[in-house]
Amino acid sequence: MTVFENFPLSDIIYYGIGGKARFVLRVQNKKDLLEALEFIRTKKIKKVLTVGFGSNLLVSDSFFNGAVLWFCRAEFPQIKFLENGLVKVFAGENLDDVIQFSFQHNLIGLEWAGGLPGTIGGGIRGNVGAFGGEIKNSIEKVEVFDIITNEIKVLDNKDLKFSYRNSYVKENKNLIVVNAFFKLSKANEKELAQAKKIYFSHIDYRKKNHPLDYPSCGSVFKNITDKENVERILNVWPDIKEQTEDKWHGKVAMGYVINRLGFSGKTYGGAQVAEKHANYILNKNNATFNDVETLIQEIKDKFNKTFGFYPEVEVEIIS
Ligand SMILES: Cc1cc2nc3c(=O)[nH]c(=O)nc-3n(C[C@H](O)[C@H](O)[C@H](O)COP(=O)(O)OP(=O)(O)OC[C@H]3O[C@@H](n4cnc5c(N)ncnc54)[C@H](O)[C@@H]3O)c2cc1C
Repeated sequence: MTVFENFPLSDIIYYGIGGKARFVLRVQNKKDLLEALEFIRTKKIKKVLTVGFGSNLLVSDSFFNGAVLWFCRAEFPQIKFLENGLVKVFAGENLDDVIQFSFQHNLIGLEWAGGLPGTIGGGIRGNVGAFGGEIKNSIEKVEVFDIITNEIKVLDNKDLKFSYRNSYVKENKNLIVVNAFFKLSKANEKELAQAKKIYFSHIDYRKKNHPLDYPSCGSVFKNITDKENVERILNVWPDIKEQTEDKWHGKVAMGYVINRLGFSGKTYGGAQVAEKHANYILNKNNATFNDVETLIQEIKDKFNKTFGFYPEVEVEIIS
């Protein structure tokens, strides 16, 4: 484990936003994690934040008077093919490295995640997903550390209670993902080639359709999936009924809504609602936490005024 003191979180959070933290503890394997937890106990640190790639986090510019457990990939990736056919991965590994590993071993199942930034720990917590795929479909079990009981536990797929961008780990803040065990499918040459094609097509799609030139946190808001809320939107905008059913498979896409509410290109300080995809707020020019939060709040208020309820934020805000 490596200890950094007074370390700027903007250096490790994907958004490039965040104040200094009293301690950042870099964790690259299970041994590091146990050492870091011992450090936290010894120093009697009360505030602890777990961070992976930081690609789903908006962190305050104020001083974080606590310890950040920074899960990182090691120099030699902690991804192992086990005899029982499962792939064991340390939580700090990048999702994309697991995809590369799986392709090298003729395994498929994660190709939907082409171009998606993040670690395995962050991905499991938020049941990361894209293009109809979700990480929950490839997880056999997960090893977690419970910071209340100081125990390592193993949770199987059912225990993890995955749902849309949610999981048991997210609902229980005392749990830290340590290792994940992936169940992937063996592929023949043709199936492998097809999976690689899908993987690269998703990377291309993101390059074409997502604003990747500036730092962001991906989608700021969750799409509207709840039937009752979908109906409330359709009552106000009946003209999108067809595309809700056909194009968005019963959901309402927040990028579309934010654009139609007039926010595309709107700037506050250094932050801007992306023109290419309005559910992204970009760190265009040294944006502060407040710049991004102000835009989020304005969108929420106008949305509520229009439809009578607030949209759910997907990015995690640490204020
Ligand atoms: C350009 C871009 C595109 C994106 N596209 C998508 C997309 O298509 N689909 C999608 O679902 N998301 C998307 N995201 C969001 C993000 O990539 C995912 O949420 C990702 O899984 C977050 O992983 P992370 O390692 O960055 O987690 P972080 O942002 O570091 O953390 C997220 C949460 O997980 C917790 N956490 C991190 N590690 C652990 C651990 N080991 N144990 C327990 N909790 C932990 C953190 O405390 C925090 O609460 C996108 C983001 C960006 C910037």
